[in-house]
Amino acid sequence: EKTTKSLLYLDGVSVSFDGFKALNSLSFIVEPGELRAIIGPNGAGKTTMMDIITGKTRPDAGAVFFKGDIDLTKKDEAEIAQLGIGRKFQKPTVFESHTVWDNLELALNRSRGVFATLFYRLTGEDKARIEEILTTVRLTARRDDLAANLSHGQKQWLEIGMLLAQEPELLLVDEPVAGMTDAETAETAVLLKEIARTRSVVVVEHDMGFIRDLGVKVTCLAEGSVLAEGSIDFVSNDPKVIENYLGR
Ligand code: ADP
Repeated sequence: EKTTKSLLYLDGVSVSFDGFKALNSLSFIVEPGELRAIIGPNGAGKTTMMDIITGKTRPDAGAVFFKGDIDLTKKDEAEIAQLGIGRKFQKPTVFESHTVWDNLELALNRSRGVFATLFYRLTGEDKARIEEILTTVRLTARRDDLAANLSHGQKQWLEIGMLLAQEPELLLVDEPVAGMTDAETAETAVLLKEIARTRSVVVVEHDMGFIRDLGVKVTCLAEGSVLAEGSIDFVSNDPKVIENYLGR
């Protein structure tokens, strides 16, 4: 049910592409400080849902509220990012020819509207914030290395760190552990839980071992609406979830 304290509230969101309902009266609530996992078969509407939240796609029907009463359907993508919603796409998009530190510095400058420059003077507070982010994303020892020399998993962490520099209240993360080693996958679960101590995180993933490691509330989408929602044990034992997703 709707509470004004919810950080994010999708109320009966529908969107069609050429008559095909990608989202069908989808309702979804994220509370402040919540870490939520989204699962579901290909074509379930997971990406479309993220596109609706970030303003990339407009709903045909329904409402999307952020922080209680901010109507996201009235905002464009840049405004929504500025309001505090960060999105990490599946493929990492770090600046390969810059160091880890410089990537974070560029992200911090960008969050203040200063683009593509490393000549903007960092305050002591800024440097402390970058150090803190390096610790969070497990890259302190790699701070002076070129991003190109990081492993795939470390690039994903760096990009998460770049998003943290923008201090989002809600972080949307698309399939972060795809292509990661088992050790990186396990570390990513710990890392996202740490990040969710100071903000909300919504993570879309197919890796059920990772979802189980997260140990948080899971929403399973299918055919554009919520098929089941609850603990991983509850959701993974739901016959509809087994039929539409897990059993495939
Ligand atoms: P998921 O991320 O869960 O795999 P998507 O949100 O990508 O699902 O897709 C949901 C459905 O909507 C799919 O059938 C997809 O083909 C369709 N779809 C998504 N975006 C578009 C678009 N821009 N134009 C046409 N069809 C789209």
